[in-house]
Amino acid sequence: MPFPAVFTAYRVFQRDHRVRGEAALGWNIMSTARKPLVAGNWKLNKLVGEAVATVEALKPLVADVSNVDIVVCPVYTALHAAAQAAAGSNVEVGAQNAYNKENGAFTGEISPQMIKDTGCTWVIIGHSERRQYFGEGDALLNEKLHFALGTGLKVMFCIGETLEEREGGKMDDVLTRQITEGLKGVSEAQFANVAIAYEPVWAIGTGVTASPEQAESAHLFVRDLVRKLFGDAVADGVRIQYGGSAKPGNAAELISQPNVDGFLVGGAALQADSFAGIITAVSAHG
Ligand code: PEP
Repeated sequence: MPFPAVFTAYRVFQRDHRVRGEAALGWNIMSTARKPLVAGNWKLNKLVGEAVATVEALKPLVADVSNVDIVVCPVYTALHAAAQAAAGSNVEVGAQNAYNKENGAFTGEISPQMIKDTGCTWVIIGHSERRQYFGEGDALLNEKLHFALGTGLKVMFCIGETLEEREGGKMDDVLTRQITEGLKGVSEAQFANVAIAYEPVWAIGTGVTASPEQAESAHLFVRDLVRKLFGDAVADGVRIQYGGSAKPGNAAELISQPNVDGFLVGGAALQADSFAGIITAVSAHG
C-alpha cells in the first residue's frame, strides 16, 4: 500500500477504534492517544474536613495509577484544603462552576482566577444542573468556557439530552446545538485543555446508566461533529467522558467502547473506595 493510503487507513482505524497507545502497536506517527480522564463531581456535598478526608483516603488507593488523569471537584469552600491535601499526588482538584468575570460587583459569584488561586487545575462548565436549575444557556456557557481557559484552567464541558428530548428524536439536534454554540471559537491549541463530558440527563443520579452501545453511539456522534467543526486533530485528541450513574460495576464495559475516554462521576465519587474502583477499572483497561 502506498504511504498515503496507509495513512488514510490508519486515520480511519484510529477514528473507529480508539488507539490508547501507539507504542503498543509499534506506531509513533500520531500523538492522538487519549489518556482517560476520570473526575468526581461531589456537587453540594462534604464539609471541608470531609473533603480532605476523602482526598486522603483516595490517594493511596490510586497512587499507582499513572495511565488515568484523576480529578475531584468539591464545593468552593473546600477547594483550597482539598488542593492542599492532593498536592504532590496524582489527584487534581477542580471546581464545579466559575463565573465569566474576574472580579467586581457580582455577589455570590466566583472567578476562575480565584479558583486557580486555591490550587485547582480544572473546572466543570455547563453541568446539566447548572443548565436546568440556574438557567445557564449556551451563550453564557461559551463565555464562561473561554474565560476559564484564558486563566489556564482546564475545562470539562458538559453536554447531554433529557429523556424527553431523546424520546422525541431531538437528541442529535440538542447535542449539535450544545457543541456548536458552547464550544464556538475554541482554537485547536485551546482544545488541549478541554474535555467534553457527555452526560445524558436521564442517567444522572437516577441509577439508570446508558448502555455501552448508547454511550458509544452518542460519543461517536459527538466526535464526528467535533471533526466536522474543528478538524481531525481536535476530534482525534479530545477526550469525551461519559457521565450518568457510572459505578465500579459498569465502568469496565463502558470504558471498553472506543470513543469513551473516561467518566464524570457523581454519586459513586463521594466514597473514596467506589471512586477508586472506577479509576482502577479504567486503568486496567489500559
Ligand atoms: C453528574 O452529576 O455529573 C453525574 C454523572 O452524576 P451520577 O454519577 O450520580 O449520575
